[in-house]
Amino acid sequence: MQQLDWKNLPFGYIKTKYNVRCTYKDGKWGELEVSDSEYIPMHIAATALHYGQEAFEGMKAYRGKDNKIRLFRWEENAKRLQHSAEGIHMAKVPIDLFLQAVVKAVKLNQEFVPPYGTGASLYIRPLLFGSGAEVGVRPAKEYTFLVFVTPVGPYFKEGFNPVKIAIIRDSDRAAPLGTGTFKVGGNYAASLRGTIKSQQAGYGAPMYLDCCEKKYIDEIGAANFFAIKDNTYITPKSSSILASITNMSLITLAEDLGYKVERRPVSVDELESFEEVGACGTAAVISPIGEVIDIESGKVYKFCKDCKAGPVSKKLYDTLVGIQYGDIEDKHGWVTIIDKD
Ligand SMILES: *Cc1c(COP(=O)(O)O)cnc(C)c1O
Repeated sequence: MQQLDWKNLPFGYIKTKYNVRCTYKDGKWGELEVSDSEYIPMHIAATALHYGQEAFEGMKAYRGKDNKIRLFRWEENAKRLQHSAEGIHMAKVPIDLFLQAVVKAVKLNQEFVPPYGTGASLYIRPLLFGSGAEVGVRPAKEYTFLVFVTPVGPYFKEGFNPVKIAIIRDSDRAAPLGTGTFKVGGNYAASLRGTIKSQQAGYGAPMYLDCCEKKYIDEIGAANFFAIKDNTYITPKSSSILASITNMSLITLAEDLGYKVERRPVSVDELESFEEVGACGTAAVISPIGEVIDIESGKVYKFCKDCKAGPVSKKLYDTLVGIQYGDIEDKHGWVTIIDKD
């Protein structure tokens, strides 16, 4: 294989050797198959293509100082994929099949797991979609589950630097009783208008508000929102947010570190009172937010003190990343080491 420049990897797709696949047919899952192709043969009437019957996961494998490869809370990803499958009426991937597929995909591509200390990791993308043909709107009878991996560099090249966010009021990512809690491609398609609009305004990502009143903070692009105030970790509660495993973990770590935690509707008006704000998700772990602009009113909220991440965000980030790479004791049993053979 060509020598990869681990320290300068983009957050993008790089071809690896293998991916693994499995088909659900006649009411049951078949055998896991290994493929070296980057393509999938697909029926032209597959429900994924026409009616958006598709869900995915995003997770990472990390190489520790001991050279061992670690997964982080994989079972939460497996359960979330089941939740998404139920949400759009797809066949569920059994938890053990999910683990087998992920471990197999990682092991077959071991040489692509970046070395410890480069800040890079192996991104893992499990994908589940309706591959059976239907023309009427109904769930497919056949499904494909596949896992591919790709080495990625840190999400933010400049490191842990604050991002600028734009409040979007003329499009929504997900409806309150829609598919917001499912990790489905349709939500991402719906979020593109807001993403492009925020970028055209010179901002990094959109902040979506609740659909009904446009009063409460929902999500930051495809990441959860959190704020720090008076020794409290505050994160929105709503029926359209995708439950982030990173956020869940930060909540636990915040409690461990002696902070209070509040999960409740968070009004945009509160932004002014927050000491630190950030977005969280697997890709970047934490992106500290330096500035929020309300595009329509032009109102700007600034959090950028010396343009660095706040102390609580930094502490939470260091702790979580430390656990993922095996540098900090894994008190909660979040890490699974993948055997060599
Ligand atoms: C995947 C995702 C997140 C982040 O979840 P993690 O489990 O932390 O990676 C947040 N919001 C949306 C909409 C997502 O799709």
